[in-house]
Amino acid sequence: MARYNGPVCRLCRREGMKLYLKGEKCITKCTFERRPSPPGMHQQRRRKVSDFALQLREKQKARRMYGVLERQMRGTFDEAQETKGATGDQLLVLLESRLDNVVYRSGFAKSRAQARQLVGHGHIEVNGRVATIPSRTVRAGELVTVHEASRSLQYFKDALAWAKTQPRPGWLEVDPDSYTTRMVTTPTRDQIETQVDTQLIVEHYSR
Ligand code: SF4
Repeated sequence: MARYNGPVCRLCRREGMKLYLKGEKCITKCTFERRPSPPGMHQQRRRKVSDFALQLREKQKARRMYGVLERQMRGTFDEAQETKGATGDQLLVLLESRLDNVVYRSGFAKSRAQARQLVGHGHIEVNGRVATIPSRTVRAGELVTVHEASRSLQYFKDALAWAKTQPRPGWLEVDPDSYTTRMVTTPTRDQIETQVDTQLIVEHYSR
């Protein structure tokens, strides 16, 4: 399935919550806050929601939040199943450990889509080597940095100010001034502030 290129605010309205897909605009000028109804002509119609629909929506919500394609999501779920611990928790941990998400959580990008682009364009290094695969898993102890040559770009000068104002999760050690982030430990489920019911996703993929 191809990547969705349509209006992203529609996705928030579809999932009934803010997914923070547009960076700064999500804080200053959010469409969902003004129009929280589902998109489409029959938005007000009330119908009984099946278990399948609930599970599907939860999976779609997580997928859209992290910007992953269905095939990648399925692959991540399979990996989570093979990892020790609750599958739902491991799924979230793996999604949070993606390189694009680490760049986003560090504050060097205002959205995960922007972070994915920075990685794809070669602006990000892991342990001193350029990493261009956004889905790459960052492991505890690894160092994520902005490429030396990219730091003089106006984008990263602006990003510095943004990064300094952003809350940082406890599993990341961010030093905005030197454009570096170290993953001090693998995140645990309770450190991940994501409103996703992973149990429903597990049920969806276990059908
Ligand atoms: Fe979602 Fe951001 Fe659009 Fe608000 S502004 S609806 S949070 S993408």
